[in-house]
Amino acid sequence: MVKLHDKTFSHFLTEDEIDTIVQELADRINKDYTGKQPLLLGVLNGSFMFISDLMKKLTIDCELSFIKLASYSGTESQGEVNELIGLSTTLDNKDVIVLEDIIDTGNTVGKIFELLKDEKTKSLAIGTLLLKPDVFKDQFKVDYIGQEIPDAFVVGYGLDYDQLGRNLKEIYQLSS
Ligand code: 5GP
Repeated sequence: MVKLHDKTFSHFLTEDEIDTIVQELADRINKDYTGKQPLLLGVLNGSFMFISDLMKKLTIDCELSFIKLASYSGTESQGEVNELIGLSTTLDNKDVIVLEDIIDTGNTVGKIFELLKDEKTKSLAIGTLLLKPDVFKDQFKVDYIGQEIPDAFVVGYGLDYDQLGRNLKEIYQLSS
């Protein structure tokens, strides 16, 4: 049990369980990208720990970059405008794998996917450590899913509750 701010969280996934999930994802990526050199594109902030562990398990050559989705209000006719920040490398002719910590509604990755779709990538795949199938409505294909989880708020292993909890080695679920 851990307490962050005003809320308590109970045990959900142990370090060993997370390691197994990440290893399975790495095995699939190693197999699917044999002979290729994918660019892992991590979505900050939550994905940093997952990507660090995943990358150590990849035996193929691979590159790494991180992005963040920023939203700002455009003109009245445009409404909310989304922009990718932090992309420091060209995606031209690359096999890109966008990696999220968790997909909930899918809005974030959906917007990122939209913004990347006009880039001249060779291929574009999406991966996530966790996915909540009760909330995500299959708006797009998620190529690599570590584990499906119930619709409850989780923290730890990079995931925060109001900026706290990212440093926890295990994943915890909000206690009801
Ligand atoms: P979505 O756009 O798919 O609804 O949510 C994506 C983002 O919301 C994730 O990248 C993550 O930052 C945050 N998020 C969604 N569900 C959770 C959760 O259970 N715990 C934490 N800590 N963040 C979440």
